[in-house]
Amino acid sequence: MPTTDRLRDGLAREIGAERILSGPSVERTYESDAYNVDRSQPTVVVLPESTDEVAKVVRWCRREGIPFTARGAGTGLSGGAMPALGGVVISTKKLNRILEIDLPNRRMRAQAGVTNIALSKAVAAHGLHFAPDPSSQTVATLGGNIAENSGGPHTLKYGVTAPHILGLTLIDAEGEILELERGFGPDWIGMVVGSEGTLGVVTEAWVRLTPVPEHVETALACFGTVREASECVSAIISRGVLPAALEMMDRNILMALRAAFGLEFPDATQAMLLVECDGPREACRQEIEAVEQAFRDFGAITQQRARDAAERAKLWTARKKGVGAMGRLAPSVVTHDGVIPRSKLPEMLDAVYEIAARYQIGVANLFHAGDGNLHPCFYFDDRDPRQVEAVVAAGTEVIQKCIELGGSVTGEHGIGVEKLDLMGLMFSPGDLAYQARLKEIFGTNELCNPCKVLPNQRGCQEHRLRWRGVAT
Ligand SMILES: Cc1cc2nc3c(=O)[nH]c(=O)nc-3n(C[C@H](O)[C@H](O)[C@H](O)COP(=O)(O)OP(=O)(O)OC[C@H]3O[C@@H](n4cnc5c(N)ncnc54)[C@H](O)[C@@H]3O)c2cc1C
Repeated sequence: MPTTDRLRDGLAREIGAERILSGPSVERTYESDAYNVDRSQPTVVVLPESTDEVAKVVRWCRREGIPFTARGAGTGLSGGAMPALGGVVISTKKLNRILEIDLPNRRMRAQAGVTNIALSKAVAAHGLHFAPDPSSQTVATLGGNIAENSGGPHTLKYGVTAPHILGLTLIDAEGEILELERGFGPDWIGMVVGSEGTLGVVTEAWVRLTPVPEHVETALACFGTVREASECVSAIISRGVLPAALEMMDRNILMALRAAFGLEFPDATQAMLLVECDGPREACRQEIEAVEQAFRDFGAITQQRARDAAERAKLWTARKKGVGAMGRLAPSVVTHDGVIPRSKLPEMLDAVYEIAARYQIGVANLFHAGDGNLHPCFYFDDRDPRQVEAVVAAGTEVIQKCIELGGSVTGEHGIGVEKLDLMGLMFSPGDLAYQARLKEIFGTNELCNPCKVLPNQRGCQEHRLRWRGVAT
């Protein structure tokens, strides 16, 4: 890899010295995302402000043979924004402007570094919002949401990010500026959304604006067993109710919340369900009553319904603060992500607890139960190499089980580096070779976010021990 000075000087000529960061604190800050088992440091970080500046950086990297990796807020949970081969991190921190609000057509154009929540705030006065709502929405960026095809609690009713993206500007791996629109012909946007920054850098996007629902009802129930709660999830949907959100938290998360924030719940609680219905007032009322009936039918110990916005916010506390509270349990958390058919939840959760017990690591579950999108959070001490290995091995078994039950290797957190080895569980070598060929449409070089998503990329294998080595 060329020296820091060479990269600094070369890129300073392209976009100005003030847009380039380097040094030990920068290397540490950008060496991982929220998946901190694997780490790899960049040589420099650039902070472009426009599509043209990003294109200049990508073209320069291509000429000089330097790897580059896009980064939003770094909240990714699979190592996607980790600069696997070092080189340049292209931060979207300064691509933070909303460019155009088109109310008649219910759409908005924004730069990739705008946070998810800022998109919704910008149009709240017009009764509109950007529907995808990852739980990291106060900091996660539009570019990160697009790259990961992010979901969120309300994905159950409103869908993941893909259908909410109407157009985008992409700097491909060659440095070409592409304007992609929905319409006749191949679904180029569909290819870019969810490609985890491996096809280029998104600089701007047109997003769909969705009306804020007329009415919302939120209810919460505590159950004495995880099985009753997870069977209740399937029953709610099979009775014809499609809630906007259907989230589950297990006892370990609740205990952490009790320790951190004084959350109150009956001592016998093993699992909590949070359900939100929205839409026209009367339909919404009928839906939440059907949900409450299901709570009773599956033996809920207690249940409550929010009477106003303040009570609704209180009911959401357990879900929103759950990950933060896990800091009470151990120094490190790895949040896993898999999907299974909803009806398999009881069996899957039994397997998760069994796997964690066998590897002697802690596990807590808070997840989008209505989607069958599981998030077992393993908590451990990352200074102990044995525990790190146990977490990785347990995660592999969890994903194997998801696939065995008819699910998938990831629900919403992507492959990144975390799940490179697991791609082979779902895709044949022929499938993977085809995916690699599709990637070439956007540029033939291997500099754009290398070593992510597709296993066995040239030059990556020998670096893998180094990523893990830094962590241990
Ligand atoms: C507490 C917590 C809760 C979370 N909850 C959810 C949830 O409910 N649902 C969910 O889906 N995810 C969730 N996540 C994961 C994460 O927040 C999302 O994947 C989010 O969309 C990542 O956004 P980011 O800006 O942080 O992206 P980063 O982590 O910076 O990057 C993620 C990936 O996107 C690529 N990328 C970033 N910007 C661009 C760009 N402009 N162009 C091309 N590629 C780009 C990066 O290279 C990387 O591969 C959660 C994470 C945390 C820490």
